Amino acid sequence: MRILITGGAGFIGSHLSDAYLERGDEVFVIDDLSTGSIGNIAHLKEHPRFHYTIDTVLNQPLLAELVDACDVIVHLAAAVGVKLIVESPVRTIETNVHCTEVVLALANKKKKKVLVASTSEVYGLSEQVPFREDGNLVMGATTKGRWSYACSKAIDEFLALAYWREKKLPTVVVRLFNTVGPRQTGQYGMVIPTFVKQALAGRPLTVYGTGEQTRCFGYVGDVVGALIKLLDHPEAIGHVFNIGSTEEVSILELARRVKELTKSDSEIVLVPYDEAYEEGFEDMPRRVPDTSKINALVGFQPEIKLDGILEQVIAYYTGR
Ligand code: UDP
Repeated sequence: MRILITGGAGFIGSHLSDAYLERGDEVFVIDDLSTGSIGNIAHLKEHPRFHYTIDTVLNQPLLAELVDACDVIVHLAAAVGVKLIVESPVRTIETNVHCTEVVLALANKKKKKVLVASTSEVYGLSEQVPFREDGNLVMGATTKGRWSYACSKAIDEFLALAYWREKKLPTVVVRLFNTVGPRQTGQYGMVIPTFVKQALAGRPLTVYGTGEQTRCFGYVGDVVGALIKLLDHPEAIGHVFNIGSTEEVSILELARRVKELTKSDSEIVLVPYDEAYEEGFEDMPRRVPDTSKINALVGFQPEIKLDGILEQVIAYYTGR
């Protein structure tokens, strides 16, 4: 197959490129390097079945050519990372909504299947843990910048599903829960690379809030395996799927585990949310996916546990 990956130089996109190439497919990447990095795909540059273009998906004539050249599209290009979202809400909203509009419209002209990456952020302040795909999304106030991300991604989901219902464009929507592994940068606020870098440098590990909030961290290799299975499965079309781990850990416990595995003397400090992000910042106390839907369709079971992930991230940052 020929796969077009928007945002293919990003953390997840680069791992997805690796996986498709390993399977024998041909990969086309478009990325404007706004949050992605050429370093993520440097090892693929000489690969005969790998092609990349550094440009925005908003360059429509170029994107139309790439859509023509490919059989399926994985739309990962987006503004991500809570820190970036809080600092640049205009960019977040415009990138996330407009890029998806363009990708779906061009894909529709040639009826090419599209997988749209959404996020667990869309569950917002919902307390119906574990989150099911058909559960209510509970958005916070529009005065709180964080929720613009959830809202922009929810619009992407509506649009992808509407293209399927109304125009019979085959689309699949995935809600990615916290996805981690080598190549993820801490630059946009993601907690695991941030803690690992802090611990290795002997700097304090900055736990935001009380640290009692929980997350489930999925290994990027497991997540891209799930994306590929969903794209291969005809019955995934027109559906939304959670993808992630169900191993729940508090952020304070995560900091302790990073400290232990890096054998670091760093202290763990609590930083109020207002200081870490912005005044009135709202976090979700628990975020756990119900993965029974994807498990029933394609047999998804994450294989790598948190300690295994942390070891890989530590090895990545220590060059071991
Ligand atoms: N977090 C933290 N310290 C950091 C970065 C993040 O305590 O240096 C917390 C953050 O407030 C959230 C959790 O770790 O509760 C996960 O944050 P991340 O940005 O990785 O992903 P999110 O789940 O917020 O999308």
